[in-house]
Amino acid sequence: MTVAIAKAIWLACVIAWWIIRYPHERRARTAAVARSGRDAGEWILLVVSLAGLGIVPMIFVFTGFPRIADRAFMPALAWAGIVPSLASLWLFYWTHRELGRNWSVSLEVRDQHRLVTSGVYRYVRHPMYSAFFLWAVAQGLLLPNWVAGLSGLIGFGILFWFRVGREERLMLETFGEEYRAYMARTARVVPWIY
Ligand code: SAH
Repeated sequence: MTVAIAKAIWLACVIAWWIIRYPHERRARTAAVARSGRDAGEWILLVVSLAGLGIVPMIFVFTGFPRIADRAFMPALAWAGIVPSLASLWLFYWTHRELGRNWSVSLEVRDQHRLVTSGVYRYVRHPMYSAFFLWAVAQGLLLPNWVAGLSGLIGFGILFWFRVGREERLMLETFGEEYRAYMARTARVVPWIY
């Protein structure tokens, strides 16, 4: 394992992630929105998360910037990074399949929105966010740079922190008791723990 290979693995995961998401992104453009929680704050969160998980590490992968934040490259860490990379891609695929047309990049309730509680949603109510956290961990293990390695955890952490409560309130307003009962029997992102 070398730095170049670790960077290539990260890049391959970005491409795989995009292939998984693209068809959902396309369909989401035409699916009618019944209620939207997409405000200025949501836009800022999306940009912060995109910067942390995408732009900052991409700049590092292609230019090595910021070199001052380089850390020693440890092959064992990079090898270990392959595990959360694959786990997150698999979870992305699975959550997108389960959510189907109910998915949105932001906070939105679709026309005829259906509450999904099956498959991986049986154990956690935000498994797609679990996938993003796994991705952020993989980024930290694969990229030997403190800024590029930690930006994903910080960027996505901010989005999660400010969004998850609002998302749950939106689901409660939409599905009432059904969502309250669902909340009572599920964890947020880590099965049985959080
Ligand atoms: N937080 C979820 C979904 C992320 S996509 C996860 O991590 O897997 C965000 C959109 O999903 C929001 O617009 C919300 O309306 C919708 N959503 C969240 N939980 C849902 C559920 N259990 N069933 C259907 N839609 C859901």
